[in-house]
Amino acid sequence: MRAVTGRPVPPARTAVRRRLVDPATARGLDHGLVLWFPAPRSYTGEDSAEFHLHGGPAVVEGVLAALTTLPGLRLATPGEFTRRAFEQGRLDLTEVEAIADLIAAETALQRDQAVRQLDGALADLVEGWRTELIEIMGRLEAVLDFSDQDLLDGVAATAADALDRLRSALDRHLADRRRGERLRTGLSVVIVGAPNVGKSCLLNRLARYDAAIVSSRAGTTRDVIEVRLDLQGVPVTLIDTAGLRDTEDTEDELEQAGIDRAKARAAAADLRIVVFDATADPVLNGQALAWVDDRTIPVINKTDLRAAPVSEIAGRPVAAVSAHTGAGVAELLERLARALAIVNSDAAPAVVTRLRHRQALEGCRDSLKAAQDQLARGLGQADLAAEDLRRAAHCLGRITGRIDVEAWLDVVFREFCIGK
Ligand code: GDP
Repeated sequence: MRAVTGRPVPPARTAVRRRLVDPATARGLDHGLVLWFPAPRSYTGEDSAEFHLHGGPAVVEGVLAALTTLPGLRLATPGEFTRRAFEQGRLDLTEVEAIADLIAAETALQRDQAVRQLDGALADLVEGWRTELIEIMGRLEAVLDFSDQDLLDGVAATAADALDRLRSALDRHLADRRRGERLRTGLSVVIVGAPNVGKSCLLNRLARYDAAIVSSRAGTTRDVIEVRLDLQGVPVTLIDTAGLRDTEDTEDELEQAGIDRAKARAAAADLRIVVFDATADPVLNGQALAWVDDRTIPVINKTDLRAAPVSEIAGRPVAAVSAHTGAGVAELLERLARALAIVNSDAAPAVVTRLRHRQALEGCRDSLKAAQDQLARGLGQADLAAEDLRRAAHCLGRITGRIDVEAWLDVVFREFCIGK
């Protein structure tokens, strides 16, 4: 900091304005704010300096170049600051993940979820369970050496109750229909239907209507077009699987691969919009009908030319629209938002936001069950039960990174970009 400001280091945690210079040439680079955070009260827990610059590319480039020529200074690798913060015990793994999620959040609901996790919603819960488990383990082990049968029975009964409660709490959080994970990654809605029923037009209509487009890009292959929407806070990828347009008996291998991919996307989607053409004969084309199930909104398009002939398809109410005039599109979006609101239901917000958390909780639940089974066989097995409980506690510890974290570190930090 002294080298690029030519001045003494300012008082700790106080922003001061400084002229920044290239120490090699004395050339002025910017006027900015500099801050000094001595260890341990910094993001990483180490001595840190911050430069707040005018963000132009030449300014940033100039200051970085000047800094990296100084001995011992280099650019951070992606996620390195956060990794150091974790290693210094400033953050636990759920906070690290929450920061990555905050940076990636595209909608308000995603942001809310990340902030909740950063506030400790998941970590507090898991640590509470872990403490409880350790207490039960302690009690079990303490009485193992005693031969007083009444005492043993009493402890076994309390332990069994406590384990029951713990297991139902875990079950409750696991039975969240993956709301947290789905909100974090976003939901997918696929538009399918016969050729020329108006799928592309409808996609464009939906994307332009009210919903904020997050990004629009042609798929990496020519068979899928994707639009990211913010549907009342729910992040949605709307996909037009143009690949399904073509008949199945194509000779073209590339095309066949495209169709297969499109089918896989359609099958994996959270919701399907199946489009029919009001002017087609018959309107209810057989292949498209096969796509209609309880995860489907059937749509009859081109109702500006001809009224929808039916109001229900396979028991599902039809959305009658015209991609051309926009009639019915607002209602369709409203219905879409309602159908996808599962990630934002009235139930308490989900705390499990990643597969990693889910797997750890499932591991914990299985070990709890094993411990209960051992205890049910009598206290002769109490040492085996204690071993299962230790495993269960270990699973919980993995969520916050208290133990056995090495394997997860690379996975967690890989998501970061340089500078965080
Ligand atoms: P896709 O093959 O299903 O994606 O169909 P397109 O979106 O390319 O549309 C096929 C044709 O139908 C185009 O000529 C569109 O202009 C027309 N079209 C689509 N939607 C409507 C609509 O609501 N009303 C009318 N009149 N024409 C439509």
